[in-house]
Amino acid sequence: MHNDKKNEGIEQFRIFAAIMVVAIHTFPFAFLNHEFDNLVTLTLFRIAVPFFLMVTGYFLLGPFACEPYYPKMWKIKQNLWKILKIYGIAIIFYLPLSFYNDTLRLSSTFFQIVKQLTFDGTLYHLWYFSAAIIGLLLSIVMICFLSLQKSFILSVFLYLIGLGGDSYYKVFGHLPGIGNFYKVGFILFDYTRNGLFFAPVFLVLGAMIYQKRKKNRNIFALMCNLAALLMESFLLHHFTKVRHDSMYLTLPIVMYFFFQFLLNWQPPFKFSQTKEKALGIYLLHPFMIAFIHFVGKVVPIFSNSLINFLFVLLGTIFLTNFLLSLKRKFKSTTKTFFTSRATKIISTKNLAKNVKAISSCIPEKTRIIAILKANAYGSEAIICGKELEKLGISFFAVATLQEAIELRRVGIQGEILVLGYTASNQVKLLQKYHLIQAIISLKHAQELNKQQKSIRCHVKIDTGMHRLGLDPNAILIKKIYQMKYLACEGIFSHLGSADSLDEESVKRTKRQIQTFDTLLKDLEELGIDYGITHLQASYGILNYPELNYDYVRPGIILYGALSLQNDQTKLKIDLHPVVKIEAKLISIKDIAAGEFVGYGLDVCLKQNAKVGIVSIGYADGVPRNLSNTGFKLSYKKAKIPQIGRICMDLLLVDLSAIFDIQVSEMITVMTHSENIAKKSGTITNEILTGLGVRLELEK
Ligand SMILES: *Cc1c(COP(=O)(O)O)cnc(C)c1O
Repeated sequence: MHNDKKNEGIEQFRIFAAIMVVAIHTFPFAFLNHEFDNLVTLTLFRIAVPFFLMVTGYFLLGPFACEPYYPKMWKIKQNLWKILKIYGIAIIFYLPLSFYNDTLRLSSTFFQIVKQLTFDGTLYHLWYFSAAIIGLLLSIVMICFLSLQKSFILSVFLYLIGLGGDSYYKVFGHLPGIGNFYKVGFILFDYTRNGLFFAPVFLVLGAMIYQKRKKNRNIFALMCNLAALLMESFLLHHFTKVRHDSMYLTLPIVMYFFFQFLLNWQPPFKFSQTKEKALGIYLLHPFMIAFIHFVGKVVPIFSNSLINFLFVLLGTIFLTNFLLSLKRKFKSTTKTFFTSRATKIISTKNLAKNVKAISSCIPEKTRIIAILKANAYGSEAIICGKELEKLGISFFAVATLQEAIELRRVGIQGEILVLGYTASNQVKLLQKYHLIQAIISLKHAQELNKQQKSIRCHVKIDTGMHRLGLDPNAILIKKIYQMKYLACEGIFSHLGSADSLDEESVKRTKRQIQTFDTLLKDLEELGIDYGITHLQASYGILNYPELNYDYVRPGIILYGALSLQNDQTKLKIDLHPVVKIEAKLISIKDIAAGEFVGYGLDVCLKQNAKVGIVSIGYADGVPRNLSNTGFKLSYKKAKIPQIGRICMDLLLVDLSAIFDIQVSEMITVMTHSENIAKKSGTITNEILTGLGVRLELEK
């Protein structure tokens, strides 16, 4: 499994690449020596744009081509749409300059405009966006129909064609057949550096490096190829009059080694927001070039190419930072404020500990389906889902289609099983998001099959809990497996009494297990390949560890709790609560003996008391029937008794015995949900899933 963690080397180099692009358009070293400038600006700095393409290839196309489960079409569409939007906005922003520069004219024909939008860009630097879009589309088609390796060979072929129309045009362009080919081509596009010939090779190369996983850092090879690139450029510039110089034979090879160098690079500095800053520099520098150009007409100092470059660069960086700070300001007033009224703190460390503990309880070959339903039992499905993927878990289950889609949209790639009912008119969504549906009844199976759209599913068997599932009748189940549009990849059931070790419960559970096993055997005899099997939820894991199915489905123990505090289980494991709730103490007042506090007459003070008001209530998930049960909150090491009836948004506490507490301090309301569950007469599952949406999230 790939780590989605940002790669610092890549992130930081974005800034340098953007600066190189500015240099390419301002020739900083031209004042020194023309040939030197060629070698640095038009050769070395030519790695900038391929770098950006390879980043897209690595992070977007790589997973698309390599990860077995979720086909990240959705993510690709999202990215294409984003590039398209930036391109559109940039075109409009640069319209005046495009007309001034004569790249666009009022007399432009429709054909010319289409040509510019698809290949050349309406201003010189905007070609990148059309190239990225067309290159991505082309690469996706190649990858879908060919292997990554074959796609690469094809894209190299395209690059070679492009090469002949770029820096090698003067070498090959005079040959009769070839010359005509390019002449026709140049009617369509001014340069062969575009989405057809230039972009695919770098996009696919990025994806190939992602696939290879093992990153080798061969500095020697990088240096040799850099030298070769410089030599190639020198020879071309010296002996021919290059038509355009952005493509070299050795450039992709240099990029291959350079990108891997960056993947291993630990930069000694850390710019923030590098993606946004690089994009800003890339997008805005032509504006600054034009601006400095006009100023230069008045102040002649800018005629020195290096000074001109520096002013353009500094101006662009200033403008970019200014715009980014505006954006931050705008965002902070509309979105991200934090009041610390009542907060939910998620410990992914504890989640990892629980995963480890569970893994040590199950047979070696058995794997985990992590249950993420009900916002991961209040522990934040998105945060936990992403963390679990990092921990190597690649199978999830949720209760509803909506929950599954939400996880897909934030990029969860593993399998997702929808445990609950999904109506047949939503089959399209199951397909689109590559989900697995549980078949919960015969009627459900028939309805889904009738849609004539292939659906991946697991068949749920009712082995005696009598909730969801089909009767354990092999002939009947065989029919489900044979339905044309249902791709049944697994079979499962759920235990109704696995949490108790009393005689009746164990008897019921054993009957369920036996029913399940018999069915599996019967199916085998009928020649049905029933796929993967799973039966145990949390208590099934702890009380029936001898079972040996393909997967287990832990829910509550994953989030660090038993359903009830003192449940006896066969295996005892160390669990660590993932969620912690804190709330702010917003007022303290001295109340005289004999006064009632809070709603109703439940609590009359026997002696003078210091009463604290805490900003959390039953709307946030602190159950109302926890009132006056002896429930205690905590502050540092001290226990604070809750008093009076819990209100919707507030609760009262007795602070008489606490001396060092101030208004606005945070008080811990819940670390172990078992305590609250017991006092309010329910199970931790209900307490956790009932945590309110008003809680602010702290990671
Ligand atoms: C919720 C659920 C689980 C997880 O249950 P826990 O007791 O929380 O581990 C497992 N399987 C199914 C079918 C469920 O609905």
